[in-house]
Amino acid sequence: MPSPYEGPVQTLIDELGRLPGVGPKSAQRIAFYLLKVAPEDANRLARSIVEAKERVSWCRRCFNLAEGDLCVF
Ligand SMILES: [Zn+2]
Repeated sequence: MPSPYEGPVQTLIDELGRLPGVGPKSAQRIAFYLLKVAPEDANRLARSIVEAKERVSWCRRCFNLAEGDLCVF
């Protein structure tokens, strides 16, 4: 059945729904939550995702998470 939402709200729900373990109902709940919280709270979450993606990768040697080429282990 077609979703009643459109534009940025539907895009947000779609993207959240692609996360592991997040079904359509949860995606909708998280989207509504994010739309209700203060802008700085939503920005902090968005920034933390971008920053983690930029700075963290998988260690070449042991495949733990690492900031840089190799992890602390
Ligand atoms: Zn390592």
